[in-house]
Amino acid sequence: MAKIREIYVCRSCGAQSAQWRGQCPRCREWNTLEAVQAARPSPGGALSPKSHGPSRILPLAEVTGGDHCAFGTGLEALDRILGRGFVPGAAILVGGEPGIGKSTLLLQLAGAVAREGKTVLYASGEESLPQIRNRAERLDVLHDSLLAVATSRVEDLFPVLENPESAPALMIVDSVQTLASDAAEGLPGNVSQVRTVATELVERCRRSGTALVLVGHVTKDGTLAGPRLLEHLVDTVISLEGDRREMFRMLRVLKNRFGPNQELLIFRMVRKGLELVEDPSTFFLGARDTSLSGTAVVMAVDGQRPFAVEIQALATKSYLSIPRRTGLGFDVNRLHLLLAVLEKRLRLNFGQADIYAKVGGGMRLQEPGLDLALVAALLSSFYDIPLPERCVLWGEVDLNGQIRPVSGQDIRMKQAMRLGYNPILCPENAKSRGLATVADLQRVLFRKG
Ligand SMILES: [Zn+2]
Repeated sequence: MAKIREIYVCRSCGAQSAQWRGQCPRCREWNTLEAVQAARPSPGGALSPKSHGPSRILPLAEVTGGDHCAFGTGLEALDRILGRGFVPGAAILVGGEPGIGKSTLLLQLAGAVAREGKTVLYASGEESLPQIRNRAERLDVLHDSLLAVATSRVEDLFPVLENPESAPALMIVDSVQTLASDAAEGLPGNVSQVRTVATELVERCRRSGTALVLVGHVTKDGTLAGPRLLEHLVDTVISLEGDRREMFRMLRVLKNRFGPNQELLIFRMVRKGLELVEDPSTFFLGARDTSLSGTAVVMAVDGQRPFAVEIQALATKSYLSIPRRTGLGFDVNRLHLLLAVLEKRLRLNFGQADIYAKVGGGMRLQEPGLDLALVAALLSSFYDIPLPERCVLWGEVDLNGQIRPVSGQDIRMKQAMRLGYNPILCPENAKSRGLATVADLQRVLFRKG
């Protein structure tokens, strides 16, 4: 008998390695490599440990199913960013932190699909049937075509997928980390269990023409095998993000075989579940008091969408030997860098000041266009002079104080004009406004320098 070979797979990114290592060579996480049995190459070359035999041979014109048979998710905006909705036989992975609202959103979608007369099976390894029923009742999605099963064994789900005629149109599995397969070793949630469970489900749903949604928890401490392990198995990867204390959620499409990538939807948490924010362009402004100093608005781009987001800064006298620098919602290194630029180029002294800066609304911004608004907010707090009420800014600031263009110029400008902002301070308007450096910004906005 051939010896069963073991390989090591990273719990967080799925990288494989022949030997055990303390640190993953790809994602640099520590202690994430786990031993799994290497898949024995099967005669058909299939990934799955069990062979399902070939499909019937047919004239291509008679083949049904596939993406031209896609059906709506119940949310028009989601259909648009997925391409056409749920595609029969295709798999979607929905990742996010526990408690962020993945189950709520998916039960809402399941209810909407069932209302259209399609059979939906909600398979949960997390909750009992009465718990699922209670939640469905609260969300007002109970329907004869919405079926549910509570199990922690993936094999229990196979019989319903056996026959393409009676298989559900949509199956939601919540979550891939709470199910275990008889074919894999160890506890649910470990690398080999998660891989086996997902591989089996993806394969069987492809054959039965069932659209599959896998829920995958992302844990910061890496105690569960993460969704990145499964990215290559599925057609679409969605992530649901947000701060559990904030009332909004962001749905991002990270990978998509059937539509655009990098799309973004914003939801609001309400009593009846998650509600789509139809026009999120000013959602992160909240109720602003424009008469206060230390705030500025940036026209930021996330995915394909421009958002007006408030940036707040506070410069106060410090009583510490090393003044405090705090940044929330963005990389705090940018704050250090911009303060250094302002000290050097504008000869301002922040050495005696504690500086706090944050992005409004709990939003996280990872884009260079933030710089100019952050500089404006810092100067506004430093001088205690508020910015003009309808002022919006974007642009990158480099180390010599020059203001640089950023991507997405056209959509930022269009959105800023639509929302009636004036003045619009950005690198592209630099010439007409005499705005090439941070010193120009200081002069234009505060008449200083
Ligand atoms: Zn890794």
